[in-house]
Amino acid sequence: MYKGIAASRGIGIGSICRIIEHDLTFEARQITDTAAEKQRFREAVEAFVQETTAMAADIRKRIGPKEAEILEGHIVMIMDPSMSGEMEKMIDAGQCAETALTAVCDMFYGMFSSMNDDMMRQRASDIADVKVSVLKKLLGIEDVDISKVAPGTVLVCRDLTPSMTSQIVGGNVAGIITEIGGKTSHSAILARALEIPAVLSVPGIVDAVKDKDTAVIDGTEGEVYINPEGDILARFVLKREEFIRKQAELNSFIGKETLTADGQKVELFCNIGTPKDARKALECDGEGIGLFRSEFLFMDNTRLPSEDEQYEAYREAAQIMGGKTVIIRTLDIGGDKDIPYLKMQKEDNPFLGYRAVRYCLGNPDIYKTQLKAILRASAHGHVKIMIPLVTTVDEVRGVKSLVEELKKELDAEGKAYDKNIQVGCMIETASASLIADLLAKEADFFSIGTNDLTQYTMSVDRGNPNVAYLYSAFQPAVLRSIKNIIECANKAHIPVGMCGEAAADPLMIPLLMAFGLDEYSVNPVLVLTARCIISKWTRAEACELSDRILAMDTEAEIVAALKIAAKE
Ligand code: PEP
Ligand code: MG
Repeated sequence: MYKGIAASRGIGIGSICRIIEHDLTFEARQITDTAAEKQRFREAVEAFVQETTAMAADIRKRIGPKEAEILEGHIVMIMDPSMSGEMEKMIDAGQCAETALTAVCDMFYGMFSSMNDDMMRQRASDIADVKVSVLKKLLGIEDVDISKVAPGTVLVCRDLTPSMTSQIVGGNVAGIITEIGGKTSHSAILARALEIPAVLSVPGIVDAVKDKDTAVIDGTEGEVYINPEGDILARFVLKREEFIRKQAELNSFIGKETLTADGQKVELFCNIGTPKDARKALECDGEGIGLFRSEFLFMDNTRLPSEDEQYEAYREAAQIMGGKTVIIRTLDIGGDKDIPYLKMQKEDNPFLGYRAVRYCLGNPDIYKTQLKAILRASAHGHVKIMIPLVTTVDEVRGVKSLVEELKKELDAEGKAYDKNIQVGCMIETASASLIADLLAKEADFFSIGTNDLTQYTMSVDRGNPNVAYLYSAFQPAVLRSIKNIIECANKAHIPVGMCGEAAADPLMIPLLMAFGLDEYSVNPVLVLTARCIISKWTRAEACELSDRILAMDTEAEIVAALKIAAKE
């Protein structure tokens, strides 16, 4: 049995497919039989064209024409005589196909990427994609097409990237095992959004297994069994049935309000990464969006998204939610979220560095573009702005003054926006928690980011398995911090939510009720579980429990007591 981090609940049983990262280096050779080399090159191009044509047709059906056209553009590009002709000329001159392809693509890449035009820069990144794809054909490297894996496949990879996730077709992937990533890494968040059981941070798993091995994943306990004995397999088949049955029970909460056992209403929102996820939030019965992680829009791109592109994305989310709250968190990069094209300086301590609102205030052009796009989207729904990683009052004032400046610009341009748009803070640093009373005077609302609050309170890297034993929102220090933040917000009469993963933790929910949390923002698939747990506690019961818990000294004691008190 392998132990890893339980990242996405449920039992997955299936046949392993390993996703290996390939080395694309090659040795440049001098060619004497140039005709044969040209033939090899043409065959590689032909294979690429055929594969891309099929993929584009599939994407046109599954996703849409705009996305398919990107791939069709790649075909036009490689077939363009100015590209393939140049490559063949180099082969005629005795260069190997790999060298010719790389040299010509790099030349065009340099040319397009230096142009001051978004479309041209996009073309540069398309060329880079084409180069890698054709190079793989020449080197005989086969990529696993995740969209085509058979039903009941367990993916085993070093890390699960957003682009890999986009290829997952509903139902085919039974489980995910990775070598890196913690409970709140983006791979974990994506796996939960897809409702696929996942165990992360299993060291060496990619080399320890073979394709077609049978894997059993317990995403609730963080356990992985490879080719298990029959009795273990039978036990997990039963466990999987039980899990599915429980899920069915939760369905009885669909369409209900979120009420405590004594009838107090709280809000139950969702965390999303793309505008389309807003649909998922509605399908899962979310009552609003408590966290739209706007950085995915920047990360899934090869250049900065323009104001109009961002506006479209935020507007889409606002319109899908049809007047329900949509809290858009402004660009939260740095830490574990890199955006290569921004060429951010490498830092010794990226989690403590020039990131999130610090980077945004230092790069006002990038930030103003985003804030203006959000303001314009606010004309189409109930949009709020949320500032990540706040550590000082000055930062909040800085953002608010940019918002005011942009409102004036929009007035002058005659463009619509919500004049009363709210600007709130994420409370996710030790500093923000300690000055929550001061921040509450500046902010229209708070949202507690326990993923980072735990990291910064406990001085523990949230993705580092060696210190994972310290990374717990049930540590007395973190609980005191959460309580203080909620009390400061309540005192200042501003709403306070929580969008960190702890908001959906069944053991945490009664404590949050006792502290007086107004809004819980959770992964869409956890809406019903959270609503069910909230419905089981009265405020008085929750307060009695929290008084006992806050008197305890250690995390272990606290978790044990909460498990005993839990109402499953
Ligand atoms: C958090 O820190 O709790 C949070 C919600 O933000 P992220 O996980 O994106 O850092
Ligand atoms: Mg955070």
